[in-house]
Amino acid sequence: MRTSFSSDRRNFLIATGASALALGLPATARAQAAGLDVAVIGAGGAGLAAARQLAGAGLKVLVIEARDRIGGRAWTDTSSVGVAWDRGCSWLHSSEVNPWVAYARANGFETTPDRNVRYVYDGSKRLNEADTAGLRALNQRIESELETAGRRGIDIPAEQAFTLTTRQDPWYPIAAAGLTAWEGIEPANFSALDSFHYVDKGDDLLIPKGYGALLAHYARDVDVRLRTMVSRIRWTNRGVALETPAGTLSARAVVVAVPSSIIAQGSLVFSPWLPAEVLEAHHHLPLGLMNKVALRFKRNVFPGESSEGLRQQRSGSRGMSYITRLWDSNVAVGMSAGALAHELEAAGEQASIEHGLGELAQMLGNDVRRHFDRGAATAWAADPFSRGSYSHCLPGRFGARELLTRPVGDRIVFAGEHTEQSAYGTLHGAHLSGLRAASQVVELLRRG
Ligand SMILES: Cc1cc2nc3c(=O)[nH]c(=O)nc-3n(C[C@H](O)[C@H](O)[C@H](O)COP(=O)(O)OP(=O)(O)OC[C@H]3O[C@@H](n4cnc5c(N)ncnc54)[C@H](O)[C@@H]3O)c2cc1C
Repeated sequence: MRTSFSSDRRNFLIATGASALALGLPATARAQAAGLDVAVIGAGGAGLAAARQLAGAGLKVLVIEARDRIGGRAWTDTSSVGVAWDRGCSWLHSSEVNPWVAYARANGFETTPDRNVRYVYDGSKRLNEADTAGLRALNQRIESELETAGRRGIDIPAEQAFTLTTRQDPWYPIAAAGLTAWEGIEPANFSALDSFHYVDKGDDLLIPKGYGALLAHYARDVDVRLRTMVSRIRWTNRGVALETPAGTLSARAVVVAVPSSIIAQGSLVFSPWLPAEVLEAHHHLPLGLMNKVALRFKRNVFPGESSEGLRQQRSGSRGMSYITRLWDSNVAVGMSAGALAHELEAAGEQASIEHGLGELAQMLGNDVRRHFDRGAATAWAADPFSRGSYSHCLPGRFGARELLTRPVGDRIVFAGEHTEQSAYGTLHGAHLSGLRAASQVVELLRRG
């Protein structure tokens, strides 16, 4: 399951004088406008894939990125707790169809199967295989009930797809927590039909150096302009002009590879407005929340094991799950999702660390507190350039992802994990969406 848990680059190229003139750009911008074919907004997995593909097709491309780093929600932190951990994506899902697997292997990045042992605790008691048979059975029933709803094509909240027996099962809270982690929001709030269309093929893999580090490697030759937030896109059927604090950039076409929330919440606007159904589709694909807390200990407080395990409490739908002994280090990474993640994030980084430590202490004993060294927590909801972790589809809104794969005005093409039906919410989905967007732009420009 998804969850169960750079460099500042070169020139600020601006597009053709002709389209700059047509769009009424200032003279300074026109002067810099030599020959940019495509502007890509956002240097995440989607934008970087689009840019590489477009450059490979011989087009002049520039990626414009608001942050001071590339990667977006793929971000490997190597400094805060002394071992590389991914603040965003970490699992290579669907390894049989995930293009990152081949890329990693061809470029010297070790990939390892996710062999984390899953431990469930009841208070401080670690349950055994027999104790958790009920959970495995329930997970299977949930999967089959979601599939039944999906096959019938009914676009209802996932929770409504479950029978009363399922919802009253004593294991339901922990099973629901798994779904909440997957979508970033509780099962009452995401579309069963949308989740049915996600395709999972092959086991999950992990990359010790980090998934974010892998994306950074892939992006090393891409032209990116960092620290440049685009606030408005003016468009005609001849080109686009992007407003940024550093001036206006123009291009023949644009790939908009920012999270759906950025457009839904008005951080990036369009003149003229996008067609209403396109704007609505961004609202129908909000980002749920999953946050992580990395906890470093002075010694190995996970006795009896030499490598990682994934632990969680039986009791709470509001519980966290943890990878302990990350890459054989004394670091644990805890994950919270949905309402709990919002609460913890609002309470602040220290409170998140304290909560993470407290839950771990419940399972492993108070000794872990004594040996605690330092921690760090993510805050993806407040992050101004993502405003959440990954997209889910609201019940009744199936089709929004597909709608966003259609170009607007022959000049605007959307990319991003939220536009990818069979791999939404993932880095490989973002990548595939970028490749799709690039092919569309090539075709649009070929037609003139
Ligand atoms: C905690 C967490 C755990 C996850 N776990 C996994 C996992 O295990 N496996 C997996 O496959 N996926 C996982 N994901 C999801 C995965 O990280 C994302 O689906 C993927 O990285 C999204 O890529 P993207 O290019 O669509 O968007 P982003 O990575 O968000 O890229 C968009 C870029 O646009 C930039 N931007 C935004 N607004 C503007 C603007 N106005 N002007 C210019 N630039 C702008 C942003 O700064 C960002 O760099 C996880 C995500 C999170 C947060």
